[in-house]
Amino acid sequence: MGSEKFLRCSVCDAIHHVSPFDKAPAYTLVGIELEERATDDWRLFMKQHAGHRLEHDCSSVGSGRPRIILVLW
Ligand SMILES: [Zn+2]
Repeated sequence: MGSEKFLRCSVCDAIHHVSPFDKAPAYTLVGIELEERATDDWRLFMKQHAGHRLEHDCSSVGSGRPRIILVLW
């Protein structure tokens, strides 16, 4: 079964859904050509919330109560 992983910043109340698509490239149409840009949403979230207290919520679908683990950076 699939599992959902989330990071939550307790300071900003921002949530990031961790997924395999975090590093999927972004494409921008420039004229008639597509311009590929590398992205890393997870790294960007970690950079934006550096020094903040983050909660790592790892819960499986249908497993009942979600398990919350505190991660201190
Ligand atoms: Zn934050």
